[in-house]
Amino acid sequence: MGRTRRRARRGRSRLTFVVDPASPARPASILDTRAHQMFPTLAPAEIERLRHFGERATYRPGEHLATTGEVSRGFFVLLSGEVAITQRDARSTGRPIVVHGPGSFVGELAQLAGRPALVDGVAQSDVDALVIPPSQLRALLVEEAELGERIMRALILRRVGLLETGGGGPVIVGRAEHPDVLRLENFLARNGHPHQRLDPDVDGEAKALLDRFHVDPRELPIVLCPNGTLLRDPTETELARCIGLLKPLDPTRDFDVAVVGAGPAGLATAVYAASEGLSVIVLDCRAFGGQAGASARIENYLGFPTGISGMALMARAYNQAQKFGAEMAIPSEVVRLDCRRSSGCAGFDIVLASAERVGARAVVVASGVHYRRLEVDNLADFEGASVHYWASPLEAKICSQQEVVLVGGGNSAGQAVVYLAGHASKVWLLARGASLGASMSRYLVDRIAALPNVEVLFETEISALEGKDGVLEAVRWRRAGEETRRAIRHLFVFIGADPHTGWLSKDDLLLDAKGFVRTGPDAGHERHPLETSRPGVFAIGDVRCGSVKRVAAAVGEGAQVVAALHASLARAGDGSA
Ligand SMILES: Cc1cc2nc3c(=O)[nH]c(=O)nc-3n(C[C@H](O)[C@H](O)[C@H](O)COP(=O)(O)OP(=O)(O)OC[C@H]3O[C@@H](n4cnc5c(N)ncnc54)[C@H](O)[C@@H]3O)c2cc1C
Repeated sequence: MGRTRRRARRGRSRLTFVVDPASPARPASILDTRAHQMFPTLAPAEIERLRHFGERATYRPGEHLATTGEVSRGFFVLLSGEVAITQRDARSTGRPIVVHGPGSFVGELAQLAGRPALVDGVAQSDVDALVIPPSQLRALLVEEAELGERIMRALILRRVGLLETGGGGPVIVGRAEHPDVLRLENFLARNGHPHQRLDPDVDGEAKALLDRFHVDPRELPIVLCPNGTLLRDPTETELARCIGLLKPLDPTRDFDVAVVGAGPAGLATAVYAASEGLSVIVLDCRAFGGQAGASARIENYLGFPTGISGMALMARAYNQAQKFGAEMAIPSEVVRLDCRRSSGCAGFDIVLASAERVGARAVVVASGVHYRRLEVDNLADFEGASVHYWASPLEAKICSQQEVVLVGGGNSAGQAVVYLAGHASKVWLLARGASLGASMSRYLVDRIAALPNVEVLFETEISALEGKDGVLEAVRWRRAGEETRRAIRHLFVFIGADPHTGWLSKDDLLLDAKGFVRTGPDAGHERHPLETSRPGVFAIGDVRCGSVKRVAAAVGEGAQVVAALHASLARAGDGSA
């Protein structure tokens, strides 16, 4: 297969990037369209400004600056010499991406948080480089506004490029529709981590892996981590630890603030608190982005007139929080909140499902809500492979050109219908009410009405699900006493949500009758509007009783709570809490 090599000379640096054209029908890659932003060349004066953030190091030809699956020394600015960046994937160990020359830099988002590299970076000649460790890279991005913006953009675009091919990340071997494959793929996709999937029925490499590791096909899925470790049907936590997404927590460290939940509310708290100098840890049991991360298109968030996918908006917030030094521990499920001193509460221990503890002087509860389930006897049999609570590109792909059923009548249901209609052959929208107008925004109602492959059935409820081995074969619904049966493999459920407060005991915080956290005057005398019944513990976003259930409102509360955190920490520091 031919390979196109392009060379560009800018100033004294030389940059070579390599594009593999595959076929004329190959979709445009970010390497084709944004290469100049992915691989910028810094001017000598700009490099001078970066010198005090790092230290010089030299490398001999063939030496690795970065090795896939291993934590590198940091971010490298090349002063002289050349470094080849290659990507490992299931099919090859050295797919070329770029050759960096003087003035270019080696690194991507993994280096921002000190996580294992997703590429190999090998010196092609004698290399003289400025090595900037992760903490100093974050300082650079904050202190050097214009230069920091260009570097941050390059780091993000490089990650997008890796996500396009999936190389550098773990390889999942299993069938696309297997519930555990879907679970693991969803986890990696929602956390913006590249990965590849090999289907044992189609990909020869899958068979080779099974033979090499003596895996019985009945044991699938397996996951091969970049560091060579093989996992058999791992949990998300096992996978995250294997790929370095989740690091062990330091039990002796006390953070100023622990945020429970990395949805828009929690991420906003992390950005504002960390940028104002507080030490912050964010814990989430699933992925960053919360419900917003599952939204196909958010059209009512200020400043995005053409709309933005929830994942894109939340990934920006996640990277922004890390840039300011907020620590992320995902996935980490919080199971209990312990107050260290019953009166005054100068500190808290947050207990995780892994039995680890996180110490913090203040806590922000931003754990949002979780989706309601349908009351159908055998629903659980099909959750994973056929019943979905999200409509992301992964789900869209597996139900492409098929009929699907979606149950719900609110805005999240409306957005999902509009999105899925672009992929499925037909979407049946089943609503309990007599119209959509009462619960759905007008623009969505109009858009759905204009979609030829969507049929809305009012006053209709699912009556039964049929299938075997976790895969749905037919859905039955009842309308005006009449039952209909259709051969359908995918059911989407968007019927509202309940607060994620099961981890809080009633003795911890005052909750309302539905389980939402009370704050402000509802929680006690002289409380800050976002403070709970326990001084030092705040609640924001969807989990808060009376909050407006919108992305903008959650972000606003995340910003607002930071002023209250400063006041609370100052009081606790005085001993006046
Ligand atoms: C499909 C969909 C589309 C939507 N579209 C829009 C829209 O277009 N515009 C709009 O304004 N709003 C929209 N919304 C609503 C909006 O997404 C929510 O209001 C917003 O996400 C609430 O943010 P939050 O941070 O309070 O909570 P969430 O987004 O619910 O985040 C809470 C986080 O806490 C984590 N968590 C929960 N319990 C624990 C625990 N015990 N330990 C650790 N972590 C925990 C969860 O995993 C989750 O990531 C949509 C919602 C959905 C579901």
